[in-house]
Amino acid sequence: MSRASKEKMRITVELVRRGATLLKEPCTVCGGVQVRYHGKVICTSHDDLSGVLTTEEVTYEGVASSLRTLLLSKAREAADLLEKEQDTLKQDQLVSLISKYVELLQKLPEHR
Ligand SMILES: [Zn+2]
Repeated sequence: MSRASKEKMRITVELVRRGATLLKEPCTVCGGVQVRYHGKVICTSHDDLSGVLTTEEVTYEGVASSLRTLLLSKAREAADLLEKEQDTLKQDQLVSLISKYVELLQKLPEHR
């Protein structure tokens, strides 16, 4: 068995473990085994399964990690705006915004 089909097998097993159901009907395109997962019919043979597991699973770590990236880029944007801003009132708003981003960043767990 090739590495690719071993990987597909592993993903299929993982999908079933997460509640996917194996369908009796083979795939009309390639005759492969199909599963129904989150309401979608996926062919375990010809469909690209690489993204299926990663996109469906929502973990606290995963969300925290993407939130951290988002906050960092937003803080960076706000800092760039602050640099160019002449209006003190707007500067004040930006500083408070950056402060909130930083505060939230500090609340997120350390990246491991
Ligand atoms: Zn197929």
